Amino acid sequence: FSSPRLAAISAVTNYKPSSAPMNFLEEPTSELFNCNVFSPSVMKKRLPKPVYKALMRTIESGEKLDASVADMVASAMKDWAIEKGATHYAHVFYPLTGATAEKHDSFLSPDGEGGAIAEFSGKQLIQGEPDGSSFPTGGIRATFEARGYTIWDVTSPAYILENANGTTLCIPTAFVSWTGEALDKKTPVLRSMQALNTQAQRILKLFGHTDGALVSSTAGPEQEYFLLDRNFYYARPDLLNAGRTLFGAKPPKGQEFDDHYFGAIPDRVLAFMLEVERELFKLGIPVKTRHNEVAPGQFEIAPMFEFANLATDHQQLTMTTLRKVAEKHGMVCLTHEKPFAGVNGSGKHVNWSMGSASHGNLLDPGETPHDNAQFLLICAAVIRAVHKYQGLLRAVVASSSNDHRLGANEAPPAIISIFLGDQLTDVFEQIKSGGANSSIPGGTLTVGVDVLPPLPKDAGDRNRTSPFAFTGNRFEFRAVGSNQSIAGPLVAMNTIIAESLDFCATRLEEATGGDPEKLHGELQKLLTEIMNEHGSIVFNGDGYSQEWHDEAAKRGLLNLKTTVDALPVLEGDDVKELFSKYGVLSERELESRLEIYLEQYVLSIGVEAKLTVEVARTMIFPAAIRYQNDLASTCSNLKILGFEFDTDTLEVMTSLVKSLQDSISELESAIAEPASDELMAEAKHCCETVLPAMNKVRSYADALEGYVADDLWPLPTYQEMLFIK
Ligand code: ADP
Ligand code: MG
Repeated sequence: FSSPRLAAISAVTNYKPSSAPMNFLEEPTSELFNCNVFSPSVMKKRLPKPVYKALMRTIESGEKLDASVADMVASAMKDWAIEKGATHYAHVFYPLTGATAEKHDSFLSPDGEGGAIAEFSGKQLIQGEPDGSSFPTGGIRATFEARGYTIWDVTSPAYILENANGTTLCIPTAFVSWTGEALDKKTPVLRSMQALNTQAQRILKLFGHTDGALVSSTAGPEQEYFLLDRNFYYARPDLLNAGRTLFGAKPPKGQEFDDHYFGAIPDRVLAFMLEVERELFKLGIPVKTRHNEVAPGQFEIAPMFEFANLATDHQQLTMTTLRKVAEKHGMVCLTHEKPFAGVNGSGKHVNWSMGSASHGNLLDPGETPHDNAQFLLICAAVIRAVHKYQGLLRAVVASSSNDHRLGANEAPPAIISIFLGDQLTDVFEQIKSGGANSSIPGGTLTVGVDVLPPLPKDAGDRNRTSPFAFTGNRFEFRAVGSNQSIAGPLVAMNTIIAESLDFCATRLEEATGGDPEKLHGELQKLLTEIMNEHGSIVFNGDGYSQEWHDEAAKRGLLNLKTTVDALPVLEGDDVKELFSKYGVLSERELESRLEIYLEQYVLSIGVEAKLTVEVARTMIFPAAIRYQNDLASTCSNLKILGFEFDTDTLEVMTSLVKSLQDSISELESAIAEPASDELMAEAKHCCETVLPAMNKVRSYADALEGYVADDLWPLPTYQEMLFIK
């Protein structure tokens, strides 16, 4: 084949599945669920009763774990894992890159007599010491002080991971520096869940609920992704190294027909999905839905919601599993937010709520006026939090890749707003005007007296343009990128809502002076005040429209278009105070995050820029001049023979080739500009100079794609990648 592209097309056309379809009758999914998890039921069977009970108290109500318990748990865990074929154990942790990291250790230790015995002590279970020196720590820990510890997270169960070459016991852990600072994504999630619980208890107490049952935040993340044949992937250095195409003209047929969305799932993709689901079931991940997404080649997977911490670990495992299984099926799973320009991007909708064993979901509108009052208060607290910390919510979803998606007319804009739906908006409007006419037939809505009109479930689905939507019994944060860890967004939501609940509880405690009779009256006042001050964040219309951008500006809402605009929010005094007040992130921990995110932004754009130069110069330019040469020789040959040749195409080609060459040089000098040692300045340079220079190269390359002879074009086209299955 004359090009990797043509070889790829041929390989894709001749693809045959390598393994037999799965048999779900022989291996029923019900038996698979949780089979590789050291779950409460396994623990119950294998641990002495008091040990089991102590452990469950820690898991369920956050009680401190007795160190003596750890040895017994470790021993039972080891036996269970070895029965499942495990040879190693790994402390799994979640560094600030958003990836998953693991350090493997063998169970075997020399027994001093020439043999070896399997060993796994409580100490090894509780704490590990990976050489974490190569993980970014944002100045918290200098490289020479490489020590960082992984600490067992009791609330996230250990599991067995099967690989082609062995089986490993995986233990989810937090990753901290020797001074106790969080170097990871998990630690702040756990801290923020604690903060939320503390404040939620005060609210529940106001409503007479004093059982103290742990209130946890819950999360259900919907993951969008693209699948593509791996032959195409390997023929595209941009996809391979940056996870997105840096070149590619829009195909004549895009997603205009909407014929892919919820359409029949192609066989090869279905086989992949079934296997993904089976693997996830084994790990106790409750996957529930699957369907095609808007763009051709785009799909979605969503689990049932779980406690935020567990959901976060499971989300990481889901991404890893998607990638691994895709490979087995000769495909590649792209979780990048915008793999294909001009085609729908991928997000991760994070559904969020909070609840407890005794009160259920606290965002479920209740059936009695009293329950409704509590629901309205919590809802109002969310509205206040999102308005007050809109910049923070934007900052925690900021990345160079998500910048391509937010505001790109198929994803929520960079402006944070809340969709409440008509009924709930109407209720809050009435509250704002102090209980005017009600939507309840013939009534007036008074908090604590009237019942809410029935709120439609999943109302949010009718408005996909909102970044933060109430969907009947939860909020859905839709600005999160498909490649991001959900930890950051969850930490932000938990903490800002904890702060808001704190504010409300303090106000109501003071105003009522502990007299429950006064609660509803004071609550009505508080809700009115919150809606007057923060109601401008509510918007139910089309978030994609220009009118909204204008209206949002009038309302004074932030519109932080890029990562460079958004990340400085993390330096704000209000944000520093928020995170330190609730013990979620110290100032130093917060600073380190800003530094790491800026660094990642600069690094990713740097890689993309260099790739743009490489592909443009070594693949596109040569193809273009070959074709230019074809045209030129045709022209001169015809002239010799006395024929006329219309040189229009040759002229266009010549001018495009020249522009391509010039733009490559321009990009090269943008890359070469002396690096500033100030990260923010560097990031600005990437955003304002490097990115536009990359886009310029791309525009000429994409124009050339429309002229150069098809058999000379080196890169698989959008058409081929998105439509061939
Ligand atoms: P849609 O595509 O309509 O938004 P999906 O069914 O794909 O809906 O996803 C909804 C997600 O919301 C699921 O992961 C579901 O478990 C989750 N969810 C439902 N209730 C809650 C809750 N109380 N807290 C957190 N997530 C929830
Ligand atoms: Mg959704």
